Amino acid sequence: LARRLATGDTRDEWNELASTLNALLDRLQESFEMQQRFVANASHELFTPLTSLSSQLDVALQRERSAHDYRAVLASVYQDVQHMSKLTQTLLEFAKASGTRGGLEIQRVRIDEVLLRLPAEIAKADPGYVVTLDFEDLPEDEAQLFVYGNEALLFTAIRNLALNACKYSSDKQAQVLLRADGRQIRIGVSDNGIGIPREVIDKIFQPFFRVEENLAGGFGLGLSLTQRIIKLHKGSIEVASEVGRGTQFQVMLPCAW
Ligand code: ADP
Repeated sequence: LARRLATGDTRDEWNELASTLNALLDRLQESFEMQQRFVANASHELFTPLTSLSSQLDVALQRERSAHDYRAVLASVYQDVQHMSKLTQTLLEFAKASGTRGGLEIQRVRIDEVLLRLPAEIAKADPGYVVTLDFEDLPEDEAQLFVYGNEALLFTAIRNLALNACKYSSDKQAQVLLRADGRQIRIGVSDNGIGIPREVIDKIFQPFFRVEENLAGGFGLGLSLTQRIIKLHKGSIEVASEVGRGTQFQVMLPCAW
């Protein structure tokens, strides 16, 4: 376009340039607004427990209390601090996954080994959570099981999916499947849980989105973090779900040949 502008008849070229610039500006504006929304939501999420902390401490300090009362206040304060520290940790992971791969340690990561760590990790959240791994039909050639990426982030991405699968299912079970065909690695995470209503399925990757009637959830950041991590690894993520029957997530990652 620049070459054509510098030479021949330019009216069409200028129009083309103007519309390209407009489209670019729209995208910039959109991403700026998304950032603003993110910061507003994050501040709100932190502000709520902070307010509760402050008022509990204020009341506790107003007059002398029994050791028993102080202990009750401390227990409640501790819960708020835990909540804030979990959120801060998630926000830090978000920041890490939101940039380029530049600052990250990138290496060849063997995906089946990452997935093998899932059952123990998920059971830490709740000993009743069970992750079943399906590694059938894996290629003999181990090289097909590697991707280039950041191992900790990849683990976080899949952990979020498996944790959700258990969290949003009455049987607390998640099935994790791994397939590789030499070009792509496919990871499927499915459950027989409550499912996601069709009206909101497009929104579940948005930061801070939670399906309203479910209270089991966290901050609504898990899936959008997972999506960012998968994009950072040049992969894709898709979801299919049916209310009352269950949900399947499918992650595709390019193989590291
Ligand atoms: P949260 O921390 O609330 O789980 P996520 O970003 O991980 O946040 O998920 C966003 C919302 O999508 C959840 O609040 C939940 O309503 C819904 N969701 C995610 N995974 C599942 C699943 N496997 N089954 C049913 N609902 C799900």
